[in-house]
Amino acid sequence: MSFLTHLECALCGDRLDADRLWNLCPACSKPLLARYDLEQASRAVTREQIAGRPANLWRYQELLPVRDPRFVLCLGEGMTPLVHATRLGQAVGFDRLFIKDEGLNPTASFKARGLGVAISRAYELGVKAVSIPSAGNAAGAMSAYAALAGMEAHVFMPQDVPPLFVAECRALGAEVTLVDGLITDCGRVAAEGVRQFGRFDVSTLKEPYRIEGKKTMGYELAEQMSWTLPDVVIYPTGGGTGLIGMWKAFDEMEQLGWIGPKRPRMVTVQSEGCAPMVRAFHEGTEFAEPWQGASTIADGLRVPAAVGDFLILRALRESNGTAVAVPDDEMIPAANLIGRTQGIFVCPEGAATLAAFQHLRDQGWIADDETVILFNTGSGLKYAHLWA
Ligand SMILES: *Cc1c(COP(=O)(O)O)cnc(C)c1O
Repeated sequence: MSFLTHLECALCGDRLDADRLWNLCPACSKPLLARYDLEQASRAVTREQIAGRPANLWRYQELLPVRDPRFVLCLGEGMTPLVHATRLGQAVGFDRLFIKDEGLNPTASFKARGLGVAISRAYELGVKAVSIPSAGNAAGAMSAYAALAGMEAHVFMPQDVPPLFVAECRALGAEVTLVDGLITDCGRVAAEGVRQFGRFDVSTLKEPYRIEGKKTMGYELAEQMSWTLPDVVIYPTGGGTGLIGMWKAFDEMEQLGWIGPKRPRMVTVQSEGCAPMVRAFHEGTEFAEPWQGASTIADGLRVPAAVGDFLILRALRESNGTAVAVPDDEMIPAANLIGRTQGIFVCPEGAATLAAFQHLRDQGWIADDETVILFNTGSGLKYAHLWA
């Protein structure tokens, strides 16, 4: 079912055997990307065949890394609605505004895409225990798929993480360790367990397959828009897997002959309290300096240093996109505006995309007749404390 051929380092280009377990590139410690035989895949499957398959991300199985369907762990992730937000559009005076609502995924965020695929592939490659440092949605998603595989799940969270995130992991059978410190401290404690017990680390971009799950957002966008792409995609960026993944998906689809050369302008949104990618983009650097004293209510955006920084910056620049930081205090009002016009309770990260949209329109960066996609990356339900 899969046309996976090998892994390739995103920086040094080294090729590696895809049927062995890898974390970062052994030569340069940068992320590895999965490569496929796209010519064979284009002969094996058509867009029409895909249209007839079940409404989850495994409809793109030829372009995903799991070789044997017995290892596919599916909770119904993907194929989320692409909503034409006409009432929100009226409220802000814009016609072609769409929301890709990722809050409807299993475990209520798009992290289910990345971890669904990564845990399935780890399961296929014989992994028995997985580990993640996380301040939010990634931990819940990992716990869910590990449960389905019968794997041990080890989660390391900062002590002050909202209680619902902890409850979810525990209910899904994970062992949760609360660490007195920041997410970087959680990373250190998790790494000890990885070394000592041989657990597999599924941190953002530290293994090659979470990005494969996230890239399906790009495939879906094209499929849901009748195999065209929008003018602008606005994406709340932490580690950047979704943005990097969609950018990769667009290239794959063009090679498959499914779309033409047109690309959306990609926009990264971060919080003013943690905006390393925005700073690096505007300074014109290839990599991003770590952000000191990161602080934001949008847990998914509190990523002071991204392993895939250069890939995010490349995608923004190649697409003629941009990067915008919005203040935290614009997020809840933006969420409420989406809520009362469209009936979607969005997370603060998703709300940040509307705030960024409004800044970009004010600056004339978005024209009135363009088609714009806002990514609501998760449900507001796990963040209800922000409305208390
Ligand atoms: C993790 C997360 C993000 C950031 O996603 P990346 O792909 O790592 O940039 C955004 N929103 C939510 C709700 C998240 O959980």
